[in-house]
Amino acid sequence: MLFATEPLAPTLDSARKVLKQYYGYDTFRPMQEDIIQSILDGRDTVVLMPTGGGKSVCFQIPAVVSEGVCIVVSPLIALMKDQVEALKANGISAAYINSSVGQSEQNSICGDCLNGYMKLLYVSPEKLLSDGFLQFLKRMRISMFAIDEAHCISSWGHDFRPEYTQLRVLREQFPQVPIIALTATADRLTQRDIQQQLRMQEPQVFLSSFDRPNLNLIVRPGQDRVGGILDFLERHPGESGIIYCLSRKQCETLAGKIQAKGVKAGFYHAGMTPNQRSAVQEGFLKDDLQVIVATIAFGMGIDKSNVRWVIHYNLPKNIEGYYQEIGRGGRDGSPATAVLFYSFADVMQLREMLTKENPHLTQLNLTKLERMQQFAEAASCRRKILLNYFGETLTTDCGNCDICRNPPTTFDGSLIAQKALSAVVRMRERAPIGLLIDVLRGMRNQAVISGGYDQIKTYGAGADLPYLDWYSYIHQMLNDGLLYIAYEEGYALKITELGREVLQGQRPLALKKFQPTEKAEKPARGRKGAQKAATPATKEAQLFEALRNLRKRIADEQNVPPYVIFTDATLQEMAVERPVNRVAMLGISGVGMKKFDTYGEQFIREILANGGNPAAEAEAEDAISGSLDPDDAGAPRTPRKREANTEAGSTAETTFQLHRMGLTVEAIAERRGLTASTVQTHLTTCYAGGYDVRIADFLTPEALAEIQTAQAQLGSSPMLRDLFDHLREKYDYFRLRLALMYFKKLRGE
Ligand code: ADP
Ligand code: ZN
Repeated sequence: MLFATEPLAPTLDSARKVLKQYYGYDTFRPMQEDIIQSILDGRDTVVLMPTGGGKSVCFQIPAVVSEGVCIVVSPLIALMKDQVEALKANGISAAYINSSVGQSEQNSICGDCLNGYMKLLYVSPEKLLSDGFLQFLKRMRISMFAIDEAHCISSWGHDFRPEYTQLRVLREQFPQVPIIALTATADRLTQRDIQQQLRMQEPQVFLSSFDRPNLNLIVRPGQDRVGGILDFLERHPGESGIIYCLSRKQCETLAGKIQAKGVKAGFYHAGMTPNQRSAVQEGFLKDDLQVIVATIAFGMGIDKSNVRWVIHYNLPKNIEGYYQEIGRGGRDGSPATAVLFYSFADVMQLREMLTKENPHLTQLNLTKLERMQQFAEAASCRRKILLNYFGETLTTDCGNCDICRNPPTTFDGSLIAQKALSAVVRMRERAPIGLLIDVLRGMRNQAVISGGYDQIKTYGAGADLPYLDWYSYIHQMLNDGLLYIAYEEGYALKITELGREVLQGQRPLALKKFQPTEKAEKPARGRKGAQKAATPATKEAQLFEALRNLRKRIADEQNVPPYVIFTDATLQEMAVERPVNRVAMLGISGVGMKKFDTYGEQFIREILANGGNPAAEAEAEDAISGSLDPDDAGAPRTPRKREANTEAGSTAETTFQLHRMGLTVEAIAERRGLTASTVQTHLTTCYAGGYDVRIADFLTPEALAEIQTAQAQLGSSPMLRDLFDHLREKYDYFRLRLALMYFKKLRGE
């Protein structure tokens, strides 16, 4: 292995080193560190994090720093293969065993596990539970079990896999080995199921925010979908995307229409042979196909990080499925768009399907469909609705959905809400929606009388409003997180903490006048997001394109998907930063040691061939003539091959000393005959290397606060460019970079 000579201990410190050296990332995302600590402490751990949140790192890094093999149970063969390829590309020894792996290869993998070389072994649940495999596991040292896609364990979930329910044998047979369960979709019930079925012992549960702030959520009326899609494609040239359809026929027809427009599109559905399907999937992964039109069967096993948009041609069956599908967009953290076409006809069709499908789950499935419908019809921030569905409460509107960008009219609904909430409480949180409305409207039917609900104080308190209005308002309250539905208790409505605040008059509630769907939003043409998507012919975009092509060539040669080489976000950062030496290249997020060794030179050459980096070249010249620089005379020379970040050390140090003497960037530049941007690069390099750069010279406390807020709004590790745009170009890249480093240091990272 790459760093076999470096001793790695199962500590957070080692974990941080591994993150940088193997993955090329500077800091853990919020929560990753805590999760890793819990795992290193040997605790059973449950990780609930959205797709793209960075779950894999949470068990992969503990696996690297711990002794023994981490056994990863993963339900999908394609996903396993991708993950193992990505691990190997980072220099970590990993393998997978499933039905597709031949016996002799299995033997060699098993040998590597026994001799302690292997760090992670991925297996399908079928393989894990098959005869002899558990016995084989007993012969090796196992660091932990990681159960990926753990929601498959629960029959309440939407991807139920019967094999997963057998996984309790792991605890029975390996009582000492910690178990880590990871999933991107888990409502309250599924969370409980996971812990119980895996026999977890006082697990630490990490529930990260399910928010995916980089996804722009849009719902559009279902008229002229094809026209809308073609229009969308025109405004998003070259961007990878997935379109989900309900039927096979629709898939094929729509793919044909898109191809006719000259866009490379493929279709994917369950009626195709496995070979046909894997060819399409492969084409998409390798960026040979830009668009895939698919039934929901597509995407489960896809780990492609540069999907820039997801369109739902039809309404999905439930919010879990919808959220998982849109979650395939923007996994690299760069902006992505999710468009849902909605028509009532879809609801009717789905209702019919669900009623036939699974008789004992019909009621549950219909209620879930209803929530999906309410989402599509909602008049309040869509992200709030989604997050609330997963048990999270967002107190401010998101600003990145169609409703936030184009808000409908509202009125003070506190009184209406209080009537409903009060009735919920007085009915002891046992009533489903229909019964609640009946009580509010003073109806006298069997359920009302037998429950004694005609005796409560709020009985008839809402008789002035029609049923449909109540229906809309109560759904808005659900969507706003004042109430939730306890599916397992006969769909009873329960009040949340936020609901109590409204009930007690501590918090006002704005309700939106219910509007029929025809009044849904206008097409997104000409909006800010759409404009951004059009590729400007800037130098940066050209370099990005060139780097993408290089990535594609290398990927094809090595027969791996392009994102295994580098993510879009990494290429984008390269296009902005233009790293032309080792130090700068290793400073790009996503460039670890192994990847630098394998690809670094090729990418540097490509950047040089595309104009290079004027600032860095000035620096290089400066370094060559360094001994002639009088300022340099007393500065300590750093041996050339020491630490990466001091390679260009001496000239940067000189700049630093002048800075400490109180010279401005411009003055230093003039004095040293460098460009201002070279001086700025010196200062950021020094600051990163622990030198005491005076932040206050460049950023006021107000500026820092403003940048920190913007960072929070954009998610944990925003791209500089997004931050720059978000703050309307108020702070240059130098200041933004300094600020981000400053926050990191504050957090002790
Ligand atoms: P998940 O399994 O939760 O869907 P992944 O583990 O695939 O997410 O991570 C999503 C993306 O984020 C990957 O490209 C991964 O390399 C990247 N990533 C993970 N952790 C970090 C980090 N600490 N800093 C930067 N990028 C990260
Ligand atoms: Zn919103």
